[in-house]
Amino acid sequence: MPETHVGDASSLRPTENKLLFASDNYAGICPEALAALVEANAGNAPAYGDDDWTRRVSDRLRDLFACDCDVYFVFNGTAANSLALASLCQSYHSVVCHDLAHVETDECGGPEFFSNGSKLLPASGENGKLNPAALLDVITRRSDIHYPKPRVVTLTQATEVGTVYRPAEIAAIAELAHRHGLRVHMDGARFANALVSLGVAPADISWRAGVDVLCFGGTKMGLPVGEAVVFFDRSLSEDFAWRCKQAGQLASKMRFLSAPWLGILDGDVWKQHAAHANAMAQRLAQGLRDIPGAQLLFPVEANGVFASLPPEVLEGLRARGWRFYTFIGAGGARFMCSWDTPLESVERLLNDLRDLSRKR
Ligand SMILES: *Cc1c(COP(=O)(O)O)cnc(C)c1O
Repeated sequence: MPETHVGDASSLRPTENKLLFASDNYAGICPEALAALVEANAGNAPAYGDDDWTRRVSDRLRDLFACDCDVYFVFNGTAANSLALASLCQSYHSVVCHDLAHVETDECGGPEFFSNGSKLLPASGENGKLNPAALLDVITRRSDIHYPKPRVVTLTQATEVGTVYRPAEIAAIAELAHRHGLRVHMDGARFANALVSLGVAPADISWRAGVDVLCFGGTKMGLPVGEAVVFFDRSLSEDFAWRCKQAGQLASKMRFLSAPWLGILDGDVWKQHAAHANAMAQRLAQGLRDIPGAQLLFPVEANGVFASLPPEVLEGLRARGWRFYTFIGAGGARFMCSWDTPLESVERLLNDLRDLSRKR
């Protein structure tokens, strides 16, 4: 863990904290983001994004992606996805997504609402991933005027079940999509975790693989709030600022959304945090493999571990105070790791799991 500059995050999350694995957005603000936030609070600055921090972060993201992209900051992932998709669609269009996609299962119809009715068309695919065959099936199913015209395919990186698309997998889907006149959107709420898992450059799993628009998650990386919407094809971002404003997503004190990004982009802190979260998930997965009755449901490739466990073990964990979800993705228990998950907590969880499975 890096040195703490402001506040002591470890004191917020003692190792006996039983909330640690509920979600990566249960975590606090990482110290580097908090320091940048405090620094941006010194004095007055122009509002609505016309400030130095917002300019600097946008430039840093252009460097990071090695692309002259267009960057916007919004408050959360639902807004980022909904507004990005709305900018790619007319109301009579449709968006192909995986049936476990956050846009389909967890955004309360936001994408449909902000696009004035563009329909989501779910497709299946192993391990939370869309594949070219499933995509082709959905987009060629109908071409008549009575069916909403497929216009976008959206991918989640890392996926809702903790797996990761390889660059070639993204490229194959994007190539097919573009050939059929569809645009490619990526929900990158956990883009950082996917990136460090693959050990590639940001461009390799975004524009170079054919992604047109990326919603780059900040919140789950350790920021207080906010996601960046990155348009690699600038022609698609026309009037996007107005769309954000109308949706109530233009922060007047924009510097407090943007400055924390500087804190984690400096020195690649964001990658260190993501790598830590992934490593904790690996340790947890490794421990689970030795627990009788436990079964990993998906390859563990990012910061989430999905396991099927006997009902009495799940009950026992809950009785001991552990919080985790069992309704996300395809069922089973989900354990999420984040930038501040202590190794000792992973060991504690595993000890409880071992103990409970022995008592069965
Ligand atoms: C967390 C998450 C989001 C963003 O959700 P908000 O609560 O709207 O910030 C988007 N997509 C995925 C896959 C997520 O896990």
